[in-house]
Amino acid sequence: MRETPTSLSVEAVLAHLEQMTVPLSDSEPVALVQALDRVLAEDVISPLNVPPHDNSAMDGYAFNGQSLPQAQTLQVVGTALAGQAWTGSVLPGQCVKIMTGAIMPPGLDTVVAQEMTRVQGDQLHIPAGTLQRGDNCRLCGEDIQAGNIALKSGTRLGPAACGLLASLGLPEVRVTRRLKVAYFSTGDEILSLGQAPREGAVYDSNRYTVHGMLTRLGCSVLDMGVVRDDPALLEAAFRQAAAQADVIITSGGVSVGEADFTKAMMKQLGDVAFWRIDMRPGRPMAVGRIHQGDRSAVLFGLPGNPVAVMVTFMAFVRPALERMMGMQRPALPLLKARSQEVLRKKPGRTEYQRGVVTRDTQGQLQVITTGLQGSGVLSSMVQANGLIVLHHDQGTAQIGDWVDVMMFDGHL
Ligand code: AMP
Ligand code: MG
Repeated sequence: MRETPTSLSVEAVLAHLEQMTVPLSDSEPVALVQALDRVLAEDVISPLNVPPHDNSAMDGYAFNGQSLPQAQTLQVVGTALAGQAWTGSVLPGQCVKIMTGAIMPPGLDTVVAQEMTRVQGDQLHIPAGTLQRGDNCRLCGEDIQAGNIALKSGTRLGPAACGLLASLGLPEVRVTRRLKVAYFSTGDEILSLGQAPREGAVYDSNRYTVHGMLTRLGCSVLDMGVVRDDPALLEAAFRQAAAQADVIITSGGVSVGEADFTKAMMKQLGDVAFWRIDMRPGRPMAVGRIHQGDRSAVLFGLPGNPVAVMVTFMAFVRPALERMMGMQRPALPLLKARSQEVLRKKPGRTEYQRGVVTRDTQGQLQVITTGLQGSGVLSSMVQANGLIVLHHDQGTAQIGDWVDVMMFDGHL
C-alpha cells in the first residue's frame, strides 16, 4: 500500500494510470457481424483493390474525354450494365450508355450524367464546358489499394469500419479479447432492487450506471451485487473478483470515515494507493492491483456518491479501460461554449459541472448548468448533455466566458 501524502491533480492521476495499465495481449477471431465495437488486434492488409475496377459513378454515357471541354456529338453503340463487363469495342466518336457501378469499357475515362445530355436516335450531344476529363469515373483502388493497410491495429470497429472490412471480402477479423470487469457496490445502507425500503437505506444506483458505462464500452461484465461494510465480506469479494476479472470496479467505502479498514484489508490483498484528487466531485479514489493466486486485477475503488462515480469513470476509468482494450484513438476534443451563468470556482482543483449545451440565436454554443450540483444528485446527469470542465488553474467563469465541455455523446 502506498499513501500519497498530498493530493494529486487530475493530470497527475491520468499520467499514473497511463503507467499502470497495458493493453491486453490476447486476441480472438470473430465473425464480422459480431465485430461491432470490438478493437482490431492486428493491422488489416487489403487483399484487393477497392473499387476492384474503374467504374461509373453515375447513370449516363461513358466516352473518351480527350477533347473536352469542347461540345461533342457521339454515337451510342451499346449499354454497359453493373455486374457484367461490356465486351464490345468503342471507336473514336462513339460512346456507351453506362449504369452506376458498371465497369468502364476499355479506353473510356469519363462519364457524362444522363441529365446533362440530349439524345436523338443513336446520337448523343454533350454541351461545351460542362465536364472535365475523368469526371464521374471512380478509379480502381481509389479507396484502398491491394497490399496496403486498410485498418490499423487498435481501431475500434464502428459501423463504417465494419462496412469497409466487408468491402474487402473479409468475413472474419481478429480482435482483442473482451475486457472482463467485475463490479460491486459497498455500504450497509445500500439496498438492491427488490429489497423493501427501510429507514436510512438507499437503492443501489451505482451498479446500474457502472453497468451501463461498461456495456457501452464493450466490456464483459460481472455484477457482484452489494457488499456490506464488513472486512471479511469485502475481502472475499475482492478475492473472487480478482480471480475472475481483469478489472475490479467498486463504489463507496473509500472516503475518510470508512477508508481505514478498507485500506488495511487492501494492503493484505495487493498494492493499492489511496489518492486524494484535486477535483470535484469525486475526491477520493483507490487505485492499484489486487492479487489472487498467480493473477492480478486492476482495481478502481470509486467514491460512493452517484455523480462522483460517473464523473470519475468518465475522467479516469474509461481512458484506462480503453487502453487495456487496445484502443488507439486520440481523445475526443472538448467543445467550447459560452457560459450563461457565473460558475464559481477556486483555482487548484478540476471541477466537473453538469451542463446543458444549446445554440444561441447567433448559432454559437452556450451552456447552462442543470442547477443543483451536489455529488448525489443523479438527476443532474440525466438532464445534462455534457460536463462543463473547469480546469485546475481556472478561477470563476463569468457570464459569456468560454468554457470547455466534455459532451456525453461518445463518452457515456
Ligand atoms: P461512501 O463513499 O461509501 O461514504 O458513500 C458516499 C455517499 O454515496 C453516501 O451517501 C452513500 O449512501 C452513497 N452511496 C454509496 N454507494 C451508493 C450506491 N451504490 N448507490 C447509491 N448511493 C450510494
Ligand atoms: Mg459507504
